[in-house]
Amino acid sequence: MKKMEEYIRCIPDFPEPGIMFRDVTSVLQDAEGLKLAIDSMIKILDGVDFDVVAGTESRGFIFGVPVAYAMGKAFVPVRKKGKLPCETVSEKYALEYGFAEIEMHKDSIKPGQKVVLIDDLIATGGTIEAAIKLVERLGGEVVKIVCLMELAGLEGRRKLKGYDFEAVVTYE
Ligand code: IMP
Repeated sequence: MKKMEEYIRCIPDFPEPGIMFRDVTSVLQDAEGLKLAIDSMIKILDGVDFDVVAGTESRGFIFGVPVAYAMGKAFVPVRKKGKLPCETVSEKYALEYGFAEIEMHKDSIKPGQKVVLIDDLIATGGTIEAAIKLVERLGGEVVKIVCLMELAGLEGRRKLKGYDFEAVVTYE
């Protein structure tokens, strides 16, 4: 059986020179790769008490929805600015390359709900950090953060001190 990292394609100099892009399409287009990715996230969440999965646009949706569905939980999208139709809370943050702003519907998390955050990859940690702030502004409690991949060299974990974070695959 292949290991998770064997399904992840690495593309040098994308989307900018000097960046080694870890591509999840090579995971998704292989039925066994997709199954291993989702099953690995579910295994990490085994025994975790939570109500909702929140996933960040767009690859956090791809992994977040099947995990939520399989574990009998709700899913809440954390979207790029301007996409959600109802009242939102929003956070600006710096990316590995550029800036971004993400939003959540104000009614998407109820105060006191336990939230699992899911994304495909943590690089600098800016995206996850902004998503944590949104969940907490809505009164939710982030009980676990799960990513398929962690680029450890970019030290995203340092932004997540005090939070329970796990990645399926870590690149040093
Ligand atoms: P961060 O905010 O710096 O942690 O960057 C994480 C976000 O950027 C995630 O939502 C990823 O989808 C995206 N990202 C950054 N680097 C890569 C990569 O090498 N492959 C895929 N996505 C990436």
